[in-house]
Amino acid sequence: MKLAEFFKTRDIMLLDGATGSQLIARGLKAGECPEMWNITHKKQVQEITAMYFDAGSDAVLTNTFGGSALKLKDYGLTDRLHELNHAGVKNAIEMKPAGKFVFGSMGPSGKMLEPFGDVTEKEVTDSFRLQADSLASAGVDGFMLETFLDIRELLCVINAIKQCSDLPFIASMTYTSTPGGFTTIMGTGVQEAVIALTGAGAFAIGSNCGNGIVNIINLGRQLRQIFPVGTILLKPNAGEPVLKDGVTCYNETAADFESHFPELVAFKPLILGGCCGTHADHIRSFRKLIDQHYAS
Ligand SMILES: [Zn+2]
Repeated sequence: MKLAEFFKTRDIMLLDGATGSQLIARGLKAGECPEMWNITHKKQVQEITAMYFDAGSDAVLTNTFGGSALKLKDYGLTDRLHELNHAGVKNAIEMKPAGKFVFGSMGPSGKMLEPFGDVTEKEVTDSFRLQADSLASAGVDGFMLETFLDIRELLCVINAIKQCSDLPFIASMTYTSTPGGFTTIMGTGVQEAVIALTGAGAFAIGSNCGNGIVNIINLGRQLRQIFPVGTILLKPNAGEPVLKDGVTCYNETAADFESHFPELVAFKPLILGGCCGTHADHIRSFRKLIDQHYAS
């Protein structure tokens, strides 16, 4: 099934919860390349995918968030880009029940564009084109561009995708609440992002990560005002990350998410999921509420 077909009969799509914190829970060490686990820890990666499909996700993301050439360079793994991205997609597709979706996750390069940093738009675009090409050829149903902080970098990714694929893409940035409104730490505002991403043809526009459910709802309201009919993506963290005995913890439970569901559902058409700290319980709660919503 194509993504657009799903939205002909439904107006809420449920994504998965966190991947990174689930990998850490299964032993991924600080400084280790998460995408390498697609090969060295296939079983654990597939366990996470299966867990989310079992919990009721309509679509699951591949473990390829850091699979761009520039990001893999940090680990000396650029020459394995194709292999790591391909394995990420294959791992997810092998676990995918019929009628469900796999989206190729693409995250920031970790480098700053000129003039603040030392990489050019061409270098960034080339780096993401290699990844997008790998993800598309391995069979993803679309792309999920997430946690971006600089709209210029995000537009490079979109450009890269268009050079090698016509699959749909969801474009998501991470905003912080400031006295002047929501903005990314690189200074991209919500309105600026929506205008640019609508123009670039994003299938859905939204926000992931951040500071928990209440903040993402406030952000959703702002998004909806500027973007009245398009599909919104909201993928909140399970609250603010807090350090407890040297371990990063997230305190918002599935019950916390459930209590805010009526506000979330008002944003439809909506793609809903969970970012850092969320797990199968959060997704299971959303599944139950979405099913009840359609039944009523
Ligand atoms: Zn996150």
